[in-house]
Amino acid sequence: MSEVLLVEDLYVKYYTRRGIISAVSGVTFDVIKGEMLAVVGESGSGKSTLGYAIMRLLPRSGAVERGRIVLDGEDILRLSEEELRRIRGGKVSMVFQDPFTTLDPLRRVLDQFREFLAEHGIDAERGRIIAEEMLEAVGVPKNLANAYPHQLSGGQKQRVAIAMAIALNPLLVIADEPTTALDVVIQRQVMDLLDDVKKRGTSIMFITHDIALAIERADRVMIMYGGEVMELAEKSMLAKRALHPYTVGLLSSMPRIGSEKLPSSIPGYPPDLRSPPKGCIFHPRCPYATERCRTVKPILSEVEKNHFVKCHLVKAL
Ligand code: ATP
Ligand code: SF4
Repeated sequence: MSEVLLVEDLYVKYYTRRGIISAVSGVTFDVIKGEMLAVVGESGSGKSTLGYAIMRLLPRSGAVERGRIVLDGEDILRLSEEELRRIRGGKVSMVFQDPFTTLDPLRRVLDQFREFLAEHGIDAERGRIIAEEMLEAVGVPKNLANAYPHQLSGGQKQRVAIAMAIALNPLLVIADEPTTALDVVIQRQVMDLLDDVKKRGTSIMFITHDIALAIERADRVMIMYGGEVMELAEKSMLAKRALHPYTVGLLSSMPRIGSEKLPSSIPGYPPDLRSPPKGCIFHPRCPYATERCRTVKPILSEVEKNHFVKCHLVKAL
């Protein structure tokens, strides 16, 4: 299985007037060709920061402090702005929760699609053909190509954003909460569309706070908390045998159809990333925390084949 993306020991910080925020700390993972990797965690766990760092689109206050991001053998962190323009859209692209992050509300869909393709050296006529083909492939009716984004429904706008993201056949699409703003039926259609994208051989890094959706749709699931990876496993393994107390907490906060038990939430609050807790970052909320947990940081370890957990209490199986 070939690796499309490798992220190694990545640290990202934000420098703000209120202090330095450690948004991503020591994150290591890979994305394999043609898989969907879901990145799951509560708000503030560093999921979007990770996506922006891979795209090299961090805001000015953010900086990669350490680590490597290797996409298709190229170290993203060493590329010039010009090389990055070639890679963005060409090898990696991002779909956002709000399609207006990609779409200009004041310009017709087809025009902006063609302009995006022109930036990658595709002439106007070929651009029109590709844009029309892609819009058709994602189920946007032909007559809407000349519409302005505000004339489209939320689901149609997201389809256009996905069509642009996949037009140049990238190796990887980072989809950051792409369905959160949509109603349930449209959510399902957009997720089906991402499944189709995956079937074309494009890998997907699917960022979500919804562990149930991640387990339903992804191949592997990576659980983040406080900017760190807590657990990473194939989705069936995670559904059957989640081992990290945080993952177990997330799973038990999931409502289940037919169950009489009410879902329980994880007590406490996410950490203040200006001064994260010492030792295990989850210890203030963990029901099993010991003195060791409060002082010594656990290491992400492979406890069984392809199942990684960061917890002192979980030993190799
Ligand atoms: P959400 O699901 O709410 O988008 P997330 O898991 O994607 O959350 P991030 O948005 O990456 O998490 O945030 C990680 C941490 O970095 C949080 O503490 C957040 O407040 C902080 N952060 C994110 N963006 C910025 C920014 N532009 N400037 C300063 N701090 C930021
Ligand atoms: Fe809980 Fe300790 Fe494991 Fe952290 S290391 S999750 S505090 S048991």
